[in-house]
Amino acid sequence: MTDLYDYESLLKRVRDALPEKITTKERFEIPKADVIYEGKNTIIRNFIDIVKRINRDPMHVYKYLMRELGTAGNIQGQRLILKGRISHTLIQNRVENYIGTYVICYECGSPDTELRKEGRIEILVCKACGAIRPVHAKIDVRIGRTVLEEGKVYELEITDLSRDGDGIAKYDSYTIYVPGTKKGDKVKVKILRIKKNVAFGRVVS
Ligand SMILES: [Zn+2]
Repeated sequence: MTDLYDYESLLKRVRDALPEKITTKERFEIPKADVIYEGKNTIIRNFIDIVKRINRDPMHVYKYLMRELGTAGNIQGQRLILKGRISHTLIQNRVENYIGTYVICYECGSPDTELRKEGRIEILVCKACGAIRPVHAKIDVRIGRTVLEEGKVYELEITDLSRDGDGIAKYDSYTIYVPGTKKGDKVKVKILRIKKNVAFGRVVS
């Protein structure tokens, strides 16, 4: 079971929206984040413009970006001010993920959709083809970052111990639990299972 989308298929879904729209009245272009840096802050200058173009609630987009970028921020006029320096590529990637998740119809690729809430479930309703689909909420796509893969072997250094005494290694943004190891061990680890940023592995010789 995996709830991960690979980047390619996600991108395809976003890009597939383009040619169809060209033949109709307006063409949907994936908005490009206009990012600048001021001191220790990152500013998306056209945040509200992006939100308007995808016709979503600014707070919904805002919360998503805060969560996905792991930072705090606030909306000031047209701009979204983010704490810390965050790469333009990462921001653009997360904007595209948002569009792939909450805007583009899963069936026909049209961006002409509406986001509704039924209880706790978010539903994407397509005005073009009528498809009604629950949003696939968990999208974990990385760009410029390493993706850990199940079944593959990695050379890791155990840098910590869990409360249960399992060794813990870090790999990019992942925390990997490796039973039977101790701090300082350098081991080859086969990844057995990944759940978001947490993985479980076992030592292979
Ligand atoms: Zn549709």
